[in-house]
Amino acid sequence: MTGGAGLLLIISGPSGVGKTTITHEVQKRVEGAELSVSVTTRPQTAADRVGVHYNFIDEAEFLGMIDRDELLEHAEVFGNRYGTPRKWVEERLASGGVVILEIDVQGAVQVKRAMPGAFGVFILPPSEESLLQRLRDRKREDEATIQRRFREAKREIAAAQAGGVYDEFVVNRDLGEAIERTVELVEQARLARAGGSAG
Ligand code: 5GP
Repeated sequence: MTGGAGLLLIISGPSGVGKTTITHEVQKRVEGAELSVSVTTRPQTAADRVGVHYNFIDEAEFLGMIDRDELLEHAEVFGNRYGTPRKWVEERLASGGVVILEIDVQGAVQVKRAMPGAFGVFILPPSEESLLQRLRDRKREDEATIQRRFREAKREIAAAQAGGVYDEFVVNRDLGEAIERTVELVEQARLARAGGSAG
């Protein structure tokens, strides 16, 4: 159970699908929505803001958090560890907030197991070719890295579709429409949790 009156929202999708943009728009448009800040062992990049995108910790600190059961879920992605600190999420949910987790499929499986009331949305590309094109258009990585991310993306999509973890799949054919659709789904989920007929 998620406890309280809050809604725990999981947003996942392969890299390059527009997930981060969609997540930020959902946060802006859904009243009371807040984004959980994960901890990670991956190196900080110039684009990362500490305490906004991530909190950066080392391996020993990460293992300590696992031992003390301070992580709601954790996973290894591209050789780095990522986890969601439990306390903040539970506090926000208890006070009725909408908490957004932008996490991968491995993490989503754990969250759904621990909190079956969580609502999962997976963002899909319109096609595999379009995803490869978007990864290239970002001009962030060399071709070998792009190919690796592409392979990972295909694996992640297959896992998500097999899983029974996600309540909804949103195809990002047009970014504006994908944002509208995701916001609509979240609002519906919130109403359903509030008792369906509650006006
Ligand atoms: P990046 O390093 O590009 O910011 O994130 C890489 C991947 O890790 C993304 O798919 C992202 O959704 C996922 N991720 C980020 N934070 C977490 C987390 O706390 N838990 C899990 N399971 N995955 C995360």
